[in-house]
Amino acid sequence: MDDFSLVINAGSSSLKFAVYRRPGSEEWRLESRGQIEGIGTSPQLSLKQADGRKLIEEPAPEVKNGRDALDALARRLRSLYGGSRVLGVGHRVVHGGAKYTGPVVITPEVLADLHRLTPLAPLHQPHNLEAIEAVSKLLPDVPQVACFDTSFHRSMSSVAQLVPLPREIRERGVQRYGFHGLSYEYIASMLPQVAPEIANGRVIVAHLGSGASMCAMKHRKSIDTTFSFTALDGLCMGTRPGAIDPGVILYLFQNLGLSAKEVETILYMKSGLLGISGISNDMRDLLASHDSAAQLAVDYFVYRATKEIGALTAVLGGIDGLVFTAGIGENSAEIRRRICGASAWLGIELDADANERRGPRISTGTSRVSVWVIPTDEELMIARHTGLLLGLTTAHNRKHKPSQTQGAAYSH
Ligand code: ADP
Repeated sequence: MDDFSLVINAGSSSLKFAVYRRPGSEEWRLESRGQIEGIGTSPQLSLKQADGRKLIEEPAPEVKNGRDALDALARRLRSLYGGSRVLGVGHRVVHGGAKYTGPVVITPEVLADLHRLTPLAPLHQPHNLEAIEAVSKLLPDVPQVACFDTSFHRSMSSVAQLVPLPREIRERGVQRYGFHGLSYEYIASMLPQVAPEIANGRVIVAHLGSGASMCAMKHRKSIDTTFSFTALDGLCMGTRPGAIDPGVILYLFQNLGLSAKEVETILYMKSGLLGISGISNDMRDLLASHDSAAQLAVDYFVYRATKEIGALTAVLGGIDGLVFTAGIGENSAEIRRRICGASAWLGIELDADANERRGPRISTGTSRVSVWVIPTDEELMIARHTGLLLGLTTAHNRKHKPSQTQGAAYSH
């Protein structure tokens, strides 16, 4: 195989990865992708070729932590692709703070900066940084790039980034950052090709997966988003509640006597679709269930999504296009139908057949607002950034060439 670049998305219990071939032309070509899931419980390694053919699916009992997972991945890649060079490694890093407005080549200074951001994302940032450090040891000569979930939203106005608390608290980093930025950036990059009529317009992108958020874009730049200081705000999610009155949190501490750890577990692991239904965090289970609590969970999910579409439309001063993406957004015609039905007042008219076929355009020809399904690809976005920053690919159709330093903001 030709030389390749590797994309790593290291989480608390899983390590996702993708191998991209050095591009002959503009775009990286996916070679294979996989994951090690169940780290700390019952680890399982799976790897598929780009065409979906299974290459590996087996238990990986030796994997006890993130570092072991990287070692196991390195062994497998060596046996599969030995003889080829790793040109670069791109990492998904959840938090780039206010400073990192674009991807960055990792240096010891950058790494130190990113460690300082850990208190802003204590459940994710340490795993992302652990993976970077492990790769530096395994492949000391291979350059690495950090791509942030927050960067895309640094185009938001200072008003939209504000958390209205006293200055001394805001000065300690409390502001609206937004997340899912790599997904939104990828969708923005695809709009001129897939949905050219709305690419320069007012678009709401609904990233509905087990984590869910929406982004209001004008000219493919983020104007506002439903995630905020953390990935708890906004829409109802699989196990997270989305926006709730902060007074509820005070009540949990002051009247129910819960500890910070207990409240954290409730907010990240036990609420949302799972909390409402008491059955599952998986939308497929809830849609298939006749249980009234499952139906209430689905109703609330749709209700919150509809409410946020209204709010973001107000922020945009109108809407030209709505895009669905991620696990639920791409796969559930039923949820798309219900959200679009509740948003019909905006001038949305769904084409039922196109919706069942997943579009890409799922609105009628006469719908004032066009509606689309566009599969997201955060890994490819990271591969593109890595290629550009390391000088492996050239910036085509990009206004500004990225620099090797932080803040490489360039348009797609
Ligand atoms: P993440 O990357 O945040 O883990 P995904 O974007 O992969 O999440 O979305 C996963 C979720 O998508 C699952 O939890 C499931 O609820 C939902 N999902 C996947 N396929 C379908 C489907 N056909 N119908 C409804 N929901 C689906």
